[in-house]
Amino acid sequence: MIRLGCIADDFTGATDLANNLVRAGMRVAQTIGVPQAPVEDVDAVVVALKSRTAPATEAVAQALQAARWLCAQGAAQIYFKVCSTFDSTPAGNIGPVAEALMELLGARMVPVTPAFPENARTVYQGHLFVGEQLLSDSSMRQHPLTPMQDSSLVRVLQAQLDARTGRRVGLVSHVVVAQGAPTVRARLAALEAQGAGFAVLDAIDNADLLVLAEAVRDAPLLVAGSGLAIGLPRLLGLQPNALAAQLPVARGARAIVSGSCSAASNAQVTAFKAAGGAAYALDPLRGDGAHLAEQALAWAIPRLGHSPVLVYATAEPAAVREVQSRLGAERAGALLEDVLATVAAGLVRAGVGQLIVAGGETSGACVQALGIAQLRIGAQIDPGVPWCYAESARLHIALKSGNFGGVDFFTRAFDALSTAAGDGG
Ligand code: ADP
Repeated sequence: MIRLGCIADDFTGATDLANNLVRAGMRVAQTIGVPQAPVEDVDAVVVALKSRTAPATEAVAQALQAARWLCAQGAAQIYFKVCSTFDSTPAGNIGPVAEALMELLGARMVPVTPAFPENARTVYQGHLFVGEQLLSDSSMRQHPLTPMQDSSLVRVLQAQLDARTGRRVGLVSHVVVAQGAPTVRARLAALEAQGAGFAVLDAIDNADLLVLAEAVRDAPLLVAGSGLAIGLPRLLGLQPNALAAQLPVARGARAIVSGSCSAASNAQVTAFKAAGGAAYALDPLRGDGAHLAEQALAWAIPRLGHSPVLVYATAEPAAVREVQSRLGAERAGALLEDVLATVAAGLVRAGVGQLIVAGGETSGACVQALGIAQLRIGAQIDPGVPWCYAESARLHIALKSGNFGGVDFFTRAFDALSTAAGDGG
């Protein structure tokens, strides 16, 4: 019987959440999509979906299927993991998925918070900050698929709800959180009595998240970034435990594929190249997908070994706009995800045993192309990004959400892996 059932709307988000649960002492299995077979004996299962930018009806159907499966495994609480920058569009998918799950679970008040202070995502008066900037002033305003141009989460979520249900979004502000869990619970009950179905919760540090976790321990449904998870295992009597994060020794050659155009990924690609790393830029305007992938593999495979090779579509906002104006945003995104997935699969066939993928959507495409159904979660490299191990592919893989990771992530991540002596080509 599992205790906590989680549904993540993208693959990097799923490992980010699993990472926080593992660090706090939970045994966690992450599955790619709804599992066909039973999972091992764990405290929590994180079902990774690739639904963030899918049509809303598809995202809803996938989430409902995952929730039904998790409930059948015994989950008493469902955690819908969304991006810490609340990535979504006016059409969804956070609102539609949350409302559908709410109805399935019979939840009447759903707490919502993407706060992840360790990664500089904080929520104050319902406004989301990325570091010192409002979300709408941050680089997220230029995301290729989900540009975030409003920092008010109450407003953003309200706009995504089905107007016919009349559900409203309330706020539990920091002054309430500071008074502790019972006061937060009372405020949630008052909002519910006033007709709200959702409440955005302020949190500016980990102490706030611990208060919130305690306050919402009986809620059937949570909608949150990975931050809120740090407080859940202790409520079940679990303690941090290093063994929970142990992975097999790494083998094989090292590679990175990057399809994220975030400010952090751009800086990481630049730093990797500046340090002399071997890097190949994909140009989506030069040829069809099959041709682009073939050329990238022809470049990368002879270079495989202990030093990582990087294949990337990562580009600055002006270059992304140029590509999007020629191909359309969706087509460009899908084309590059396909190419990078083909490249990732080709690299693993050619002997890569340690792979970093940068970008949430990109990670989804790569994991699917690699035929990975389940991941074990290892030690954290940087906040929100652990190494994972895919038994079926004998592959160590790190799925890096766009804006996560320090500037030297692409080299430091490999240093953090314990490898078999003399291995790596
Ligand atoms: P992040 O985690 O930063 O959001 P994602 O992989 O989720 O990264 O999203 C980035 C999207 O941008 C993907 O669909 C990717 O294919 C697309 N993309 C990558 N490079 C380019 C480019 N040069 N031009 C246009 N779109 C791009």
